[in-house]
Order: sequence, then C-alpha cells, then structure tokens
Amino acid sequence: MEHKKVMELDELLPIESKMKDVKIKLDDTTLRDGEQTAGVVFTNDEKIKIARMLDKLGVEQIEAGIPVMGGDEREVIEQIANMGLKASILGWNRASISDIQTSLDCGCDAVAISLATSDIHIKTKLQKDRAWVLNSIRESVAFAKSNGVYVSVNAEDASRTDFGFLIEYAKAAQAEGADRIRFCDTIGAMEPFRMYQVVKALIEETGLEVEMHTHNDFGMAVANALAGIHAGATWVNVTVGGLGERAGNAALDEVVMALKYLEGVDLGTDTTIFHEVTDFVMRAAGRTIPAWKPIVGSNIFAHESGIHADGVLKNPKTYEIFPPDEVGLERQIVVGKHSGSKTIEMKLAEFGIFVSREDAAALLPTVRSKAIEFNRSLFDKELVKIYKDFTEEREATSTSAS
Ligand code: MN
Repeated sequence: MEHKKVMELDELLPIESKMKDVKIKLDDTTLRDGEQTAGVVFTNDEKIKIARMLDKLGVEQIEAGIPVMGGDEREVIEQIANMGLKASILGWNRASISDIQTSLDCGCDAVAISLATSDIHIKTKLQKDRAWVLNSIRESVAFAKSNGVYVSVNAEDASRTDFGFLIEYAKAAQAEGADRIRFCDTIGAMEPFRMYQVVKALIEETGLEVEMHTHNDFGMAVANALAGIHAGATWVNVTVGGLGERAGNAALDEVVMALKYLEGVDLGTDTTIFHEVTDFVMRAAGRTIPAWKPIVGSNIFAHESGIHADGVLKNPKTYEIFPPDEVGLERQIVVGKHSGSKTIEMKLAEFGIFVSREDAAALLPTVRSKAIEFNRSLFDKELVKIYKDFTEEREATSTSAS
C-alpha cells in the first residue's frame, strides 16, 4: 500500500524563508517591567551591571526604567544613559509632558509613551474617554519628537482594545511622528493565532513598525511574540529569564533561541552568556532559575533515562536541539532510577574505574533501589561507593568459596 507523502521539514517551516531578511530588534525591559514585578527591587549597582550585560549580549535598546519616579531610579537611568553603551537607552513615561521632560533630562535617546487604549482601562482606571486618549497621545508624541528622540507609543491593553480605536490611536501617534507602536498584551490574554491576525491588520492599516510586548499568563508570551513577528512586527520587548509582572514577560533567551532554531533567524546575540546573565538577574531579584526553565534551566542538558543518555553519548543531537556551551551550560549525565548500564560504565570511567558491560548491568539493581530509597538521582560518590561494595562483596564471596 502506498502512503501519502507527508510534508518535508522545509514545508513545515514556511516562515523561515520569509523571515530571514527581516531585521528583528530586541528591546529589553528587565529594568522596567522586570523590576515592576511584585517583590523585586534591584540596587543601582545591580542595574548598572545588568545594563552592561545586556549591551554585551547585543540588545538594540534597553528600557532603563521610569525617570519620573525620581530619586535612585532617575539617578541610575541618567548614569546608564551616560555610560557610552552601544544600545539605545529608553525611558518609560505616561503620556505627560513632565514625564517625558524628565526622560529627556536623563539623557535618554528614546522614550516610551504609554497610554491605555482599552475601554475598561480608559473608563475605569483613567476615568477619561477615547477623545482624551487621542489628544493626550498627540500632544505627548509631538513634544517628544520636537526634542529629537526616538518615540515608541505604547498601546496598553491593546489586546482588549476595540480594533478600530487601536488604528485611530496608532494613526494619531503616527501623524505626530511616532517611530513605532508597542502592542501590549498587558494581561497576557492573547493566543498566537489571534495575535498574528491582529498584528498583521495593524501593520496593513498603518505601516508603522510594531513592537511586541507580551505577558506569560497562559504560558504564551514567547509564542505570542513570535506570532507578532510572523505578522511583520520588527521589535520584541523581552526580559531576562522572563521576569515581569505576574507570570512574567517573554524571556530574552527563549525568544532569541526560538528565532534561531525554529525560524532560522540569527540575531547575532552573544548567547554564551545567557546562563550567566539569567543567574545574575535572578539572584538580584531574589529568585532562582527553575530547573525546567527552557534554554538555561539546570535540567535542559541533564539526561538520566538509559535510552536518552545512550543516545546523547552517541550523538548529542539525538536529544538536544543546540549544544549546551551555546548558552553557557554543560551537559550532565545523571545516574538514577532510569539509568542504563552504559551510563554507569561511562560515569565510573570518569573516576578511572573501568567496568565490563556485565558488571555495569550487575550494578543496576542496586543503583535503582538506592535512587528509590533516596527519592532522587545519585551523587557520583554514591555510585562509586556502590561499585566498591559490589567488588568487596564479590571478593569476599570468591575467597570464602575457594
Ligand atoms: Mn507589561
């Protein structure tokens, strides 16, 4: 019986070729939305170090904070703006002349002007109306542009905004010279298929550059950011480790690696410091990197099951999509309940103990029962101890038998 031919991998990734020539730019908001996370405060020294690391990674823009908050916040933004970094330094503002003036005073070369566009935000939070929103954005953008800075116009809660009004808002900002519009999925209420359609229509209607700002409330921040990029968005707002309000934002490392390995778009980011940067930011935030976090979690290159470990030892590509050193991690073969005899052979060899395949197989039942008893995988020294007990017992048996 003849089988119908299924799609080739190339056909499964039709986007790759379309996206190759598009320049995607990263705007990192670890210092603004990341720090806005409930319970997170960075010291100014930490902020400066984070800004340097982001610049080293190669992000195009660093959203450094909210200048109008004043005090330490304003001081460090001014410092970051004057550090001579390659990245553009963006200050976050409400649609207010005095907010924007403070960003300008700090030396920011770019400003985000943020205004809510959904009726629920306009009516209940701002207690204004749509006409007020349009007037405010016109005035603010005109003021910022007359001062010669790059202007990102943020549509807060864009996901729940009436589409016709979103276009009106974008066009009002565009008429005053806005450089891009940030589509904010403020509450993480989108899914990739709808995101694609809305962003595509937004670009078709306005021709404006679009930036994706996505939240992870349903675990779709990265997927939604990619959907927006497929639709033609050219900027992505990310945070280190996905830090951000509630469930967080799209993670910098995940967006970069997904673009590279799933879409064939290499942003030229220095990914080798991803683990170092994420670890630093998480510590500064009083958090830890979850073991299972995509890209830089401690488990991403850890293999325990016999079949997986055997495959990886023969050819890492069997179970790894990219090599660990590309993100600053190391491969780990873990000995535990699911290990096979080859793993045991290989692990013991690391300690200069060379066992036969038969002996490795004979050790397996003890390895498994210990892992079950301890309710975890085994430390290397525990495996060595199991081996020593095994050989001692064998010697004792052979001595008594002779
Ligand atoms: Mn946000």
